[in-house]
Amino acid sequence: MTALHDEDTDPTDALSPVPAAVRRREVPVTGTVKFCYGPMDCGKSTLALQIDHNLARQGRQGLLLVRHDRSGSAQISSRIGITRQAVEVEAATDVRALVRRAWEHGRHVDYLIVDEAQFLSAEQVEQLTELADEACVDVYCFGIATDFRSALFPGARRLFELADELQPVQVEVLCWCGRPGRFNARVAEGVVLRTGDTVYVADTAAGGAAGSAGEVNSATTRSSRELATVRYQVLCRRHFRLGEVGPDASGPGQLQLA
Ligand SMILES: [Zn+2]
Repeated sequence: MTALHDEDTDPTDALSPVPAAVRRREVPVTGTVKFCYGPMDCGKSTLALQIDHNLARQGRQGLLLVRHDRSGSAQISSRIGITRQAVEVEAATDVRALVRRAWEHGRHVDYLIVDEAQFLSAEQVEQLTELADEACVDVYCFGIATDFRSALFPGARRLFELADELQPVQVEVLCWCGRPGRFNARVAEGVVLRTGDTVYVADTAAGGAAGSAGEVNSATTRSSRELATVRYQVLCRRHFRLGEVGPDASGPGQLQLA
């Protein structure tokens, strides 16, 4: 029998009674956690700095955090040349302690801007949600959703699970075919790599100088030749899946132009 006799005891009803409108002011105000995600070079850092700029102009006080930036120093730098100092979040950093320290120095923290949020640990994402819920801090996270294998980064995964708002950032980053670019392929000599360390940050900003790769995982040794040839390329899903990096690239996966 599946007939429901009493709505109050419906075990499939997950909705709680809520306060009446006049009593809503008694409900604690909470911050929101927002995750803006997109492929490399899609303008996430630029958007992060723009949001910080606007909030600061409106009198709110924020803290800029970065898990680790492509430039390797504690700053948020956008590809179009704007750079701001940021607080580096290390693997063992408790983000709540960072904010507490700012409070102790008499600094308000109305919001947090977190760049490279994909590299956060699940625990650090949970700390951010705690700051939103318990300290009313608005949290703006920016990062890449998936790694070079198209699997979610740990930090991105936890943000997808917990964030109040998810927003894809798609500032016309296109695959070589013209379709929206969604995947960061790791490419060596024209071949899309499918295995390797998850974290491997190559600085693609330096005018194609792929040799300026910033190795993060020091546990793994690579030949300098390998370091010099690995690069990232944003591809659409189809070309990521097929491993085709476009007509200008050499090696397997090359589009055959008759
Ligand atoms: Zn494509």
